[in-house]
Amino acid sequence: AGSGKFFVGGNWKCNGTKDSVSKLVSELNAATLEPDVDVVVAPPFIYIDQVKNSLTDRIELSAQNVWVGKGGAYTGEISAEQLVDIGCKWVILGHSERRNIGENDDFIGKKAAYALSQNVKVIACIGELLEEREAGKTFDVCFRQMKAYADNITNWTDVVIAYEPVWAIGTGKVASPEQAQEVHAAIRDWLKTNVSPDVASSIRIIYGGSVNAGNCADLAKKEDIDGFLVGGASLKGPDFATIINSVT
Ligand code: PEP
Repeated sequence: AGSGKFFVGGNWKCNGTKDSVSKLVSELNAATLEPDVDVVVAPPFIYIDQVKNSLTDRIELSAQNVWVGKGGAYTGEISAEQLVDIGCKWVILGHSERRNIGENDDFIGKKAAYALSQNVKVIACIGELLEEREAGKTFDVCFRQMKAYADNITNWTDVVIAYEPVWAIGTGKVASPEQAQEVHAAIRDWLKTNVSPDVASSIRIIYGGSVNAGNCADLAKKEDIDGFLVGGASLKGPDFATIINSVT
């Protein structure tokens, strides 16, 4: 981990029931968490209010998606204004599971800009496919995705970048600490050149992709890994707590 405050997000994806959410909230409320870590969980929209009303204030709430502009006649969407209304402070954008169903770089960049304009903080995901990595295009893809954010974002204070190689998400194939560090350092360097040295040195770049209680400690030691975005392991309170407490 570098100099920024360690950040750990839990992406619950499309999992859970009222009962399982209640159990997970109890586990999180009972866990002992290192104080110097920002912790955020992202339940499915439909459970955000339940979680907000039962979870310790120590942990902030995130959505997993948001509409690209002001609310209105957009069937099935949830607006940034509505997230603010229920006390949800963050949103995950650009997740590969949403890119995979048709969200492109520009749309994601616009979503980020609108969310930030409403004071919803953004976890901005990027990451390459396996075939892109094997073709030596990892940096090209990550920089292209970064540029779409940079073309839309003017103030990076409320942004955390999540590097999530798609081949590592939900596969059990975690990136090695060296593989993750290499890309994190490259993203920081890209930000230095293309945004500003200040943003590059202050922004948190977190890693996601099969992080668990057993592999988090070695990743957390790397200089440019400022935390984690966790899918599967965030559904188990004690494991998620171990990941939070892996801060070095
Ligand atoms: C994610 O979806 O953001 C993620 C990293 O999932 P997992 O930890 O299950 O690989």
